[in-house]
Amino acid sequence: MVAKEDVSREIENLDRAIAVSIQDLETQRAGVRERLGHDAADVFNWHIGVLKDVSQRRDIVGLIQEKCYSAPYATSTVMRKQQRRFLQMTDPLLAERIRDVQDIERRILRNLLGASGEDLAHLTREIILVAHDLSTSQAAMLPETKVAGVALDVGGPTSHTAILLRSWGHPAVVGLKCLTELVSGGDIVIIDAVNNTVIANPDAETIAEYVTRQEKIARITGELDHLRDLPAVTQDDVQVQLLANIEYPREADIGVAKGANGIGLYRTEFLFLREGEPDEEEQYQAYKAAIEGSDGRPVTFRTFDLGADKITQEKTVEPERNPMLGVRSIRYSLQRLDMFKVQLRAILRASVHGKVKLMFPLISGLMELRQAKMTVRDTMEDLEEEGIPFRGDIAVGMLMETPAAASQCRQFAREVAFVSIGTNDLIQYLLAADRGNERVSRYYSPAHPAVLRTLRDIIRTCAREGVECSLCGEMAGEPIYTLLLIGLGLRSFSMAPNNNTEIKKHVRGCTAVKAERVARRALTYDTDQQVLNYLRSETKKLLPEDPDY
Ligand code: PEP
Ligand code: MG
Repeated sequence: MVAKEDVSREIENLDRAIAVSIQDLETQRAGVRERLGHDAADVFNWHIGVLKDVSQRRDIVGLIQEKCYSAPYATSTVMRKQQRRFLQMTDPLLAERIRDVQDIERRILRNLLGASGEDLAHLTREIILVAHDLSTSQAAMLPETKVAGVALDVGGPTSHTAILLRSWGHPAVVGLKCLTELVSGGDIVIIDAVNNTVIANPDAETIAEYVTRQEKIARITGELDHLRDLPAVTQDDVQVQLLANIEYPREADIGVAKGANGIGLYRTEFLFLREGEPDEEEQYQAYKAAIEGSDGRPVTFRTFDLGADKITQEKTVEPERNPMLGVRSIRYSLQRLDMFKVQLRAILRASVHGKVKLMFPLISGLMELRQAKMTVRDTMEDLEEEGIPFRGDIAVGMLMETPAAASQCRQFAREVAFVSIGTNDLIQYLLAADRGNERVSRYYSPAHPAVLRTLRDIIRTCAREGVECSLCGEMAGEPIYTLLLIGLGLRSFSMAPNNNTEIKKHVRGCTAVKAERVARRALTYDTDQQVLNYLRSETKKLLPEDPDY
């Protein structure tokens, strides 16, 4: 409580704190826009919108005036009420937004109370960030900061945030459950992203051991640079394509600079993860930029994969009980044909600027695929009638990421130009283990025999049907699976650009004949642990100098 005569001072303090918070975010947004382009920067719009919300300020000021609350207490009261409203909706989809509101509350409080905590954007020295969770906007701004590594309590290995962290290029470990309870500010921590562990307050011997390991990894990574312009070819002359996964158009040239043969997965939905849908022109400009960035190499557009852990503002209006099994991906597109067609128009218009491929996410039935293809045809007709140029021969494919599609692979292969295996989702649906939930991450195993068999069948069927088959899940960028995947017959991998040269090294270090032997043997094991141990030892034999996988 404050004295009556201090009320106006509290309101002034509040207004100053809100203004500084907005200014901070606008500066961060400008930095991200400069580095990653408009789409990445737009994740800050929602936060800025909440800070500028007149009714929210009115509620806070009301409490200060009527109840003589201090500005920080009034702010917390109003913002906690908002958080409770999100919580009462009992929808995990809204978790992202609750974190954002908490983030905004902390920001205002920090500016009101004189910043006892440090803002990531204003760090003056390198730190390791240990947090319970990280929102998308926070993950997107990390390249702008002095954060040198991240460790989080929550998140699965292929969760949305984990994928962003991996493309950031610094060590990050997620799903550590209660790390924030065990370490505090000022502690020394080692982030071992190779073994997915964190060591808190290590002794001198452990630090020395990790310094040596770090130097070794830096040396090996530095040595990889010379592979950028060399082909990914096995020692017995089998060519492998290494493509890049991107989330924002500006990453296309980063992928190419790292030696990618093209973009195997452009996650276009990142353009939609903000308030207000991007219109056709905005999408067209973004897609054109991605095509131009890829400098003549093919770009595979995945139509927006919204829902589940990737939500728009509009979609939260109807929370679902089980969003991973709900109206996500192509299901959402087919329910929002207006929005889907706008995106298809933008992609088709952009197709005249280079080599464009198009694929649909989460296809589970043939009728769904046919409906999506029909929508492409309708859109082409509209453009034709309007005299707008586009490439009519654009290759249309699908993500193979549901067990249903995998088991009907032959039928699907006859109706698409190419297939891209989305192991991130395929594994979660095959093994019934949520990819974003650290509590079930021990069930989420790419080495599970059921996964191996499913991959073998998809790759084999595509080869028999003469349909190009790529793999764009995180597994493609993990060296421990390179031998296995080549041995299963995979010839096209799409991964975060940073993984390109390491995977290339593994491709160039093996023979396809040896890889086939490894895959055959791996398929004989009964458990994922046996498969992993075996792949680890074979990979080690191939490249004994490398760190343990
Ligand atoms: C996948 O599911 O493997 C995939 C590549 O798509 P996303 O990770 O965006 O779901
Ligand atoms: Mg997927």
